[in-house]
Amino acid sequence: MQPDLIIRGQRVVLPETVAPRSVHIREERIVFVGDYDDVVAGCEVVDAGDSVMMPGLVDTHVHINAPGRTEWEGFHSATLAAAAGGVTTLVDMPLNSIPPTTTLSGFEAKLETARGDCFVDVGFWGGVVPGNTAELAPMFAAGVVGFKCFLVPSGVDEFEHVTEKDLRVAMPELTRLGALLIVHAELPQSIKTEVVGADYQSFLASRPRVAENDAIALMIRLSREFDTRVHIVHLSSADAIPMLREAQAAGVKITAETCPHYLHFTAEEVPAGATEFKCCPPIRERDNREELWKGLRDGTIDFIVSDHSPCPGEMKLRETGDFMKAWGGIASLQLRLPIVWTEARHRGFTLLDVTRWLCANPARQVSFDGRKGSIAIGHDADLVIWRPDTQFTVTPSTLHHRHKLTPYAGEVLSGVVQQTYLRGRKIDAPGGQMLLR
Ligand SMILES: [Zn+2]
Repeated sequence: MQPDLIIRGQRVVLPETVAPRSVHIREERIVFVGDYDDVVAGCEVVDAGDSVMMPGLVDTHVHINAPGRTEWEGFHSATLAAAAGGVTTLVDMPLNSIPPTTTLSGFEAKLETARGDCFVDVGFWGGVVPGNTAELAPMFAAGVVGFKCFLVPSGVDEFEHVTEKDLRVAMPELTRLGALLIVHAELPQSIKTEVVGADYQSFLASRPRVAENDAIALMIRLSREFDTRVHIVHLSSADAIPMLREAQAAGVKITAETCPHYLHFTAEEVPAGATEFKCCPPIRERDNREELWKGLRDGTIDFIVSDHSPCPGEMKLRETGDFMKAWGGIASLQLRLPIVWTEARHRGFTLLDVTRWLCANPARQVSFDGRKGSIAIGHDADLVIWRPDTQFTVTPSTLHHRHKLTPYAGEVLSGVVQQTYLRGRKIDAPGGQMLLR
């Protein structure tokens, strides 16, 4: 079969090995993976040389905030940033948009907004909020990949958090559907609202590890009771890793992700007043960071996603530096690959580990693993070519995020993306598909 294009290189990351290979592409898909020298007469060949060729990244935790709060990000800027960062598939969170994706009509409004404006392929989470159980089946049938809930106030009024009582109504329906429930796991009763001070240490003390630990214990218990698949988003408290490990070993259907900021920064190093470091749950101490890396090493933590959560710069209250009042959220969609690679290589991890965490495992979480997240025959030809040994200093003006305020400004990272291919094409226009389950 004559391919349309062959992309080859000396360091192609396959599921089990990194080796010289040629990737043959026809009608947007990978049709053959051959030796480096397997080329076909008359077919265009792109040679990546000694750059790394990896599957396009999959980021299943992105807040795009459109429609309704498009001034916070929007599909156009978010997906352009994704493409620049080697991300070819992202999944949008159901909140911060108005309407939120908690009803079928909300999902339809979301699709209407996204369609035609995306540089990469995009999927969608629905939301579980008090009283919307009847909307779950219609949204799932219409193509959301699963559902998110919050156990604490989400930060926006139109996406209410749930209590155990609400979950006892929603979870049997999720199990019936076979749908995954992803959970912002902090419990309100352990969050301290009466803290003195507005500096980083006060903020950190207000959202202690125990708020996460107790929430995760609750979700393990409910997952076991209702046999619902549960996934803990943005795990920050490493104290919860042993109980997750134990639950997983006992057959509870519970998984977890963490985020680049918890793996890169430490609470000890947050500069005074630097509210761009605020996110919930918070960046914790150095020892906690190292325990998160151990959780990745032993597989208790399944993957790393950005939790790209932007807002207009003024909402960060940089002038007062008030951590208690500033919006919580870190935008890092474009930077996930170099942040994770920089930290991972220092700890002895390989390109295979990073590809599992950034591509294959997130694709599997949302059941896109038949076509996304691996360089394999039959998969979409989503590829990123990048230079792992080239360092750069993060310069906010080079970010395509709508708002440039970032805690990564000035950080020196390794890993420069050279080219991103979406279904066999260099990305130069909004040609992304809506990925419906
Ligand atoms: Zn989030």
